[in-house]
Amino acid sequence: MTNSNENFLKELHHPDVPVPEGMQSAVAVTSFGKLIDSIYNWGRRNSIWPMAFGLACCAIEMIATASSRFDQARFGMEVLRASPRQADLMIVSGTVTKKMVVPIVRLYNQMAEPKYVLAMGACAIGGGPFKEGYNVVSGIDKYIPVDVYVPGCPPTPQALLHGLIMMQKKIDGQSFGNRNSMPWYGRGPSEEVPVPVLGPDIVDPRQAYLLRREAAAAISAAEAETASGEADSGV
Ligand code: SF4
Repeated sequence: MTNSNENFLKELHHPDVPVPEGMQSAVAVTSFGKLIDSIYNWGRRNSIWPMAFGLACCAIEMIATASSRFDQARFGMEVLRASPRQADLMIVSGTVTKKMVVPIVRLYNQMAEPKYVLAMGACAIGGGPFKEGYNVVSGIDKYIPVDVYVPGCPPTPQALLHGLIMMQKKIDGQSFGNRNSMPWYGRGPSEEVPVPVLGPDIVDPRQAYLLRREAAAAISAAEAETASGEADSGV
């Protein structure tokens, strides 16, 4: 029996039912719910299909991770799909510009549930060296939910592999018993993330009411100032 199979059995053990140490690699006593969670998560964690797209220099390290030296195929992740419909992991690798964040959010919405996002590199996490630049957003997590962050400029392929392993650990922790960890089994379709509107300064539609309120307050203040100026001058 391989080490990974032994570990899988050990993870299944129910703490209330001790199994003699010599038998732990061959026998597992567990609850039905935990067994179903483990098999379901084991299947998903070992067949994550990342979406094939890159944004800047970090993408070169992502490509290296898929090559023979680092070989992400060991984790069942070698199938990089060119369509969001067939991918369940979005690796945001590189600088996210205000122009590109719009298609990124659109692609995220087109991915089927369950779906995950990994932010690779300082640019994707918070803008990196271009933070506060006129054309760069300060982190992709302001627009779509991020599951794993891999810091670095650029992160090495080893760092990305570590992030992918953390992604697997997150999947392992999801359970049918905790519906919050599997929101895609809720009622009705998942809510779409609002697609930002590209403009002189990009707008997050989730904050539209704030922008409207601020704009209305500014207009009222300007009108009040004009009216008081006219009253003072006796017009
Ligand atoms: S984090 Fe560094 S290496 Fe990655 S895209 Fe930004 S500038 Fe390039």
